[in-house]
Amino acid sequence: MPARTTVLVTGGAGFIGSHTCVELLDHGYDVVVVDDYSNSVPGALERVAKIAARPPVAVHEIDLLDRRALSRVFDEHRVDAVIHFAARKAVGESVELPVEYYDTNVGGTTALLHAMRDHGVHRLVFSSSCSIYGDATKVPLTEADPARPTNPYAASKWLCEQVLADICRHLAGFSVLALRYFNPVGAHPSGLLGEVPRKAVPNNVMPYLARVAAGRLPRLSVFGGDYPTADGTGVRDYIHVMDVAEGHRLALEHLDDEVGMRVFNLGTGRGTSVLELLAAFQRACGRPIPYEVTDRRPGDVPALVADPGAVARAWNWSTARDLDVMCRDAWRFQELNPSGYPN
Ligand code: UDP
Repeated sequence: MPARTTVLVTGGAGFIGSHTCVELLDHGYDVVVVDDYSNSVPGALERVAKIAARPPVAVHEIDLLDRRALSRVFDEHRVDAVIHFAARKAVGESVELPVEYYDTNVGGTTALLHAMRDHGVHRLVFSSSCSIYGDATKVPLTEADPARPTNPYAASKWLCEQVLADICRHLAGFSVLALRYFNPVGAHPSGLLGEVPRKAVPNNVMPYLARVAAGRLPRLSVFGGDYPTADGTGVRDYIHVMDVAEGHRLALEHLDDEVGMRVFNLGTGRGTSVLELLAAFQRACGRPIPYEVTDRRPGDVPALVADPGAVARAWNWSTARDLDVMCRDAWRFQELNPSGYPN
């Protein structure tokens, strides 16, 4: 890739997007952000600029489905590669709003591909998800294991992967890396950037734990104590968001290794139960966290753990931050930003 590389980051103000922007700026990339702030705020990008000591080249507040506006972004900037995060991502909500999920996630991706093709941009890193493995019957999971999406969110990500693979088969020169993240958590070590769920009651376990620890919610409900796991609670592969961000920078650096579509898991390979996560968070914040074991959450699966071997072999890379670092950084962000970013 060219020495001064310009990367268009869709969803750059979101949780993973903002951390990836910092990683790119820190490594000399120029960054153009596209975000409609449907699940993020401009304050995140102010923090990005503060940490990196330089801002993105430009920030465009547009919806990807606004094809004219998107085309103008490509007219305005000489884009070398795209990282596509912008999507709807709540499993539960996707069951209620399947049309919106396919529209934003699949339609947003094809609109982006249109603009890329028309402007001669052929390099893409795509944000995929371990949720496509669905009700996985084995751990750990390799990229060769079958996709069995069980909700519209996961199905939309799996559809996008198939669209991208087919486009790579038919359009010469396209190079796509889809990264299937497991459970990204944690925050930037500065405490300036982290996960700011829009809802008062977060869906995901880590921001929920942080709010219980801060006394803003009474207790964690542990969803299910009768799974076929060592302590009966759900097992996930938590990965530090800074490792996810680093993975995206490396993906950019490896986009030109081959043309066509490649898929990699991004996980640590280590499974952690809800009770183990709770214990780690208690160590990080130094106070007891009340909890109760409740019924299983509909749609949850017992265990999802990555086999991270493929990416390790391809890039000679593995994640560096363990569970204690994830909890410590998440807690620091919670303490320093009890109400999220200033709006
Ligand atoms: N979980 C929980 N209580 C919560 C939220 C989540 O016990 O308030 C559990 C959930 O059942 C799963 C794990 O924590 O086993 C991770 O859930 P999360 O929603 O963070 O991510 P997911 O794996 O569903 O994408």
